[in-house]
Parts: sequence; C-alpha cells; structure tokens
Amino acid sequence: MPKKTKTKLIDKKNIRKDGRKLDELRSIKLEIGVLNNADGSAYIEQGKTKILAGVYGPKEVHPRHLALADRSLLRCRYHMAPFSVDERKRPAPSRREIEISKVIREALSSTLFLEYYPRTSIDVHMEVLQADGGTRCAATTVASLALADAGIPMKDLIVAVAAGKVENKILLDLNGDEDKIGEADVPLAIMPNSKVITLLQMNGLLSVEEFKQTLNLAMDGCFQIYQHQKESLSKKYAEMKEESE
Ligand code: ADP
Repeated sequence: MPKKTKTKLIDKKNIRKDGRKLDELRSIKLEIGVLNNADGSAYIEQGKTKILAGVYGPKEVHPRHLALADRSLLRCRYHMAPFSVDERKRPAPSRREIEISKVIREALSSTLFLEYYPRTSIDVHMEVLQADGGTRCAATTVASLALADAGIPMKDLIVAVAAGKVENKILLDLNGDEDKIGEADVPLAIMPNSKVITLLQMNGLLSVEEFKQTLNLAMDGCFQIYQHQKESLSKKYAEMKEESE
C-alpha cells in the first residue's frame, strides 16, 4: 500500500497550488449594472468565487411597522445557491448565512447616508453562484458596488478581502482549499479612503505578531481591490456617457 502523503498547498518556492505567490490576490473581474430590473447591481468573479448582487430601494418598507423614523432600513441577504458548492446546499437560510448577512449589513451601513431616506428600506441581495472561499468578503465588495450603482449616497466604498495562515505561512485571499485546510483566516472590510475597519473577524489561532502581519496583508489586498472597484465604476459611467451622446 502506498503511504498516504498530506497534500501540500504551498511548494518549496512559496508558490500556491493555483500558481499564486503568498501575497497575491486571485484574478478579479467586476461588472456593474448587470441586472435590468434592480435599482443597482454588480457581479464579481474572484478566482472561482462568483457572486451577483442586486439592490432594491430606497422604497416603501414592507412590513410597514419595520420603518424607521430617522433613517432608511438597510436589509442584507447573503445566500448561497444550491448549486454553488459541490454537494447541493439546502436553499433555506443556514445559521452561517444569517450570520454573514448580519456582518455584511454592519460592514456596509457605516458608509451609507441612511438618514437621507427615513421611512424607506434598502434591500441588498447577494447570491453566491459559485463558492470557493472568501465569499463573505467578495459579497461585501460587490454589494458596495451595487449600492453605488443604485445611487445611494455614501462616504466611501467598502472593500473586503481575507488573509490567513496556511501551512505556517501568511497568505492573502484564501481559496476554498486553503480556507478548509488552513490554520486561521481573517476577513477584513475597510473604507479605503479613511482606512476605517468595518468588518474584522478571525477564525483559528494566530500569535499577536502573526495577526498583525495578516491584518497588514489583508489591508494591502483591500487597496488593490479598491483600484478594481474604481475602474469598474469609471468604465460603467464612461459607457453611460457614450450612450447618451
Ligand atoms: P467565506 O466564504 O467567507 O470564507 P466560510 O469561511 O464560512 O466563509 O466558508 C469558507 C468556504 O467553505 C466557502 O467559501 C465555501 O467554499 C465553503 N463552504 C461554505 N459552506 C459550504 C457548504 N454548505 N457546503 C460546501 N462548502 C461550503
């Protein structure tokens, strides 16, 4: 019988299974305004992770008793499609999806001027079409763009990415296998211009030094993704300008 060897995710030259360096993001594709019937929408591909976001609002709140007198009610729904993972996922919201919806709502709400639209609601739907790690962060990044596409006034975009520890090394933007096998991961969301942190979680164990390193790496990753966000918005508005001329 051949001896079972543990699969290595990082080789001797510090190259990961998908060909990336330790501090390299997965390739990112962003598109804005992909849905006709939503007030705002966006789509992200980050490596093999694929997520669609649609925003409805500001609009009348249903049920009405949930309306807030001084601001808009921001509701976020992160959902994984049944076909988004290798074994069919039950469509009903899981505890994990409820938790992720909550942390994303909190991450997004601090940048929005919700007080401009009292007694209304803004609904953000994030549908994970394919999950391969980092979905809460990619969903946050794409939801922020969908909100911008809906014209919701905001102080800044929100951008998110995770970094973590795998096989004793600190890595940026963990994919599904790295997330599963790794020792720790730290999802981070920030307002890139003020560097205010709006989401910070940690799964697993890190020393204080490792945590600082992981956080700095995730920060760098956020700034890189922010450039993609800005480019995708500029592209969308350049196209709109061309169409109107
Ligand atoms: P995140 O996607 O933000 O990293 P988790 O750490 O909770 O969130 O999940 C890590 C990864 O595990 C997901 O991106 C996905 O690839 C996988 N995963 C999550 N839930 C399921 C599930 N029900 N079935 C199979 N894989 C899952």
